[in-house]
Amino acid sequence: MSPHPPTLDYIADQLEDLKRENLFNHIRTIDSPMDGHIVVDGRRVLNFCANNYLGLANHPRLKDAAKRAIDQYGIGPGAVRTIAGTMTLHEQLEKRLAEFKHAEAVVTLQSGFTANLAAIPALVGQGDVIFSDRLNHASIIDGCRLSRATIVAYEHNDVDDLRRKIADTTEYTRRLIISDGVFSMDGDIAPLPELVAVAEEHGILLMVDDAHGEGVLGRGGRGIVDHFGLHGRVDVEVGTMSKAFGVVGGIVAGKQVIIDWIKQRGRPFLFSSAMTVPDVAACLEAVDLLESSDDLVSRLWSNAETMKAGLRALGFDIGSSTTPIIPLMLGDVGLAREFSRRLFEADVFAMAIGFPTVAKGKARIRVMNTAAHTPADLEEALAIFQQVGSGLGVVR
Ligand SMILES: *Cc1c(COP(=O)(O)O)cnc(C)c1O
Repeated sequence: MSPHPPTLDYIADQLEDLKRENLFNHIRTIDSPMDGHIVVDGRRVLNFCANNYLGLANHPRLKDAAKRAIDQYGIGPGAVRTIAGTMTLHEQLEKRLAEFKHAEAVVTLQSGFTANLAAIPALVGQGDVIFSDRLNHASIIDGCRLSRATIVAYEHNDVDDLRRKIADTTEYTRRLIISDGVFSMDGDIAPLPELVAVAEEHGILLMVDDAHGEGVLGRGGRGIVDHFGLHGRVDVEVGTMSKAFGVVGGIVAGKQVIIDWIKQRGRPFLFSSAMTVPDVAACLEAVDLLESSDDLVSRLWSNAETMKAGLRALGFDIGSSTTPIIPLMLGDVGLAREFSRRLFEADVFAMAIGFPTVAKGKARIRVMNTAAHTPADLEEALAIFQQVGSGLGVVR
């Protein structure tokens, strides 16, 4: 008989610790399409959890496009693109996305996470340096670690600190600045014009991960570069099709040489299969939809404004978000959890977020707005936030 691996005991102990410390992730089961209302654990609730900003995850046009593509091309790509070849659909999507975003070129990956793992280690390596915002997304952090470059974190959105760190780190020639576009826990936006200025001044490559800005910021959802009118001045833009686009997939947009290089050296491009056929077709339809009208993007922003104004009027602290992400600041993690639980009892699904996702003492309910909510939905939600907030003594 083989001996019992001690590693298993260690893992089992760690799981017990998580449960004891109330940090164990309980994943709820959804039995409906992702939409403004969803059925969670058998209950129909108003959904304020998803990143489905434009309500495209269950849009009839995207669903039809996916079905038609399956009839024409089947489901899967068969292998990685460098070995089995690439389908017309993938090339079409990349071309359309590049036009949509006014970028020289685009490459698609399986997800936003793998887009970072493909891009960062292709751009810099051992002996190089990355300046990274302290609050950057986990996939950026992992991409940085995989690159084996030296990582220098600068204080969140603090361009003066970035300048100091650059001045203190002169021994490197190949350098990269990386920032999230929209920071998903507070809903604040990176100071991209200032980052561009610093990057241009010092000849440093600049990369922004616009996962929460894709389909949200800029004209008709063209993203953060469009929002600030910085076309051609941000070297690399990583993005995702898994949020506002309502599908799953990742992109890297930027100068042609960079995209060419990622297709030669990006490991998730070389060693992991392409996006599936229905995903690509649905993304193409999403681009069509956004190019033909900005109705959904406008509705998203006006819904978010209604919720912000409503929550503020009720006396809630909603931080300093400038995007459709609303952090309802509660401080204590126990309070945030109880708040979320009571919302759910009243048929509103909104997640409590605490340490380690945000700092200790900064627990909150994260209210994710979407174009899929009607005015009546928002009115109903605000009444329930008031009822729960006053029941817990957070507001009057
Ligand atoms: C969500 C997110 C990702 C991951 O995107 P997926 O397509 O879900 O893998 C990457 N970067 C940032 C900044 C994100 O917010």
